[in-house]
Amino acid sequence: MAHPKEILNALKAIPLKSLSQNFLISPHWAEKLVDAFLCEGHYDEVWEIGPGLGALTQILAGKTQKPIRLFEIDKKLSEYLQEQFPQIPLHQGDFLDHDWTQLISPHRKVAVLSNLPYHLSSPMIFKMAENKNVLSHFLFTFQKEFADRLIAKPNTKNYGGLTLITELHFSLKNLGTLPAGAFYPAPSVASQAILFIPKADSPEIQKTITLIKAAFSHRRKKMASNLKEVFPEVPWETCLEQAGISSQIRAEALTLEQFKLLANNIK
Ligand code: SAM
Repeated sequence: MAHPKEILNALKAIPLKSLSQNFLISPHWAEKLVDAFLCEGHYDEVWEIGPGLGALTQILAGKTQKPIRLFEIDKKLSEYLQEQFPQIPLHQGDFLDHDWTQLISPHRKVAVLSNLPYHLSSPMIFKMAENKNVLSHFLFTFQKEFADRLIAKPNTKNYGGLTLITELHFSLKNLGTLPAGAFYPAPSVASQAILFIPKADSPEIQKTITLIKAAFSHRRKKMASNLKEVFPEVPWETCLEQAGISSQIRAEALTLEQFKLLANNIK
């Protein structure tokens, strides 16, 4: 594939910061991401979000027989992609606007790949969680700082509601760090590739999410005070004691399993 700079010049386009347009230029990483993605799980179709100039699409198309769909917001890039890959359906527009029930039947499974538009990292993860029933797995690259929050351990500054809610929905495999030079233009920070495999929903999932959000509402306060504000009817000190947890604890010290246990106290 030609260098993105050449293709963009020919298209009279420039990389748009507002759409997080940093194009992958490392053949090593393109192969590695596609291989890790295709090897996982059982799926009927493959979607790519933000294919850009097709760095991943080209490899995907050469390695899988499954139907592929592309979702690209940029009109010029979409036209270019349709010329390059006329056999692959492309949806031009914001991926987040799609109603998945119009795209896939509930009996099929989709695997989703994206060198993600970084400014949409959180909403994209929540979109995946909403549609977990038809997801086999997904592989996203994020800015490293954001990925660090996803894979953080308790009692660290990066650990928080995002870490726990992601862990509630998915098992995560860290696939490694892509240097800034793997992209054109080079972003200011490195990126991290993570593969997500959906977990089955437990009956307590909604309560656990509500509890996690309440527990982290004021990070510096003791968790019991935060919980009392949202659920004043629950005797939190006693509940924490019964669960073998200090009533002085802050939310960032608790594991997901402990949050699940405590969620049983919410009616
Ligand atoms: N996949 C390409 C690559 O690896 O070289 C491009 C990755 S670039 C980081 C992100 C891509 O997502 C851009 O092509 C951008 O136009 C597209 N994009 C940004 N926001 C989007 C959205 N809401 N829906 C779909 N595509 C989007």
